[in-house]
Amino acid sequence: MPTFQRCPETVNDMARELLFEFETHQPIVQAGVTIDFVFAFADIDEQTQEPVGNALSKNGIKALGLCRKIPLKDRAMGRADVEISLDGQWWEEATHAERRALLDHELHHVAIKTDKRGLVRDDLGRPVIQLRKHDYEFGWFKCVAARHGRASIERQQASEMMLDAGQYFWPHIAPPTIVESPAAAHA
Ligand SMILES: [Zn+2]
Repeated sequence: MPTFQRCPETVNDMARELLFEFETHQPIVQAGVTIDFVFAFADIDEQTQEPVGNALSKNGIKALGLCRKIPLKDRAMGRADVEISLDGQWWEEATHAERRALLDHELHHVAIKTDKRGLVRDDLGRPVIQLRKHDYEFGWFKCVAARHGRASIERQQASEMMLDAGQYFWPHIAPPTIVESPAAAHA
């Protein structure tokens, strides 16, 4: 079983920087959404000292970060509105830029629920959170793309993504760094 540890204040500081840096985060900043940050560590094999299994996973696939809403009862017991879990071992080895990118990704999942009266609040008066879904999410098989070519979902999704946002994702097309200043903020 993975073990958990509250993240040090440096993670909160980096998140605060990102929240104020990018326009897309302003609705959650203004709503005063609170976030708990936690590291997850995979078990370590005593003999090889290598991690066993994944610290975090989603639908059985390794994840470096996860974002979830904290339920009302836990909010009442002192928890924040949202919990972001990070793979602690990955974090230790990642560069500053990689840490920022992962944290920005997890923060971008956080959105507030609004209706015609504005911000929706729960029984404790806290903002109701709606998790933002990824722009792209897919599961591809190489052999199916190879066997069925253009008729395959794999190839169709790849070409849709290429047309829609290839300049952000494809290594040979994307500029080395896209986001440098708040003026050029993208999610
Ligand atoms: Zn995500």
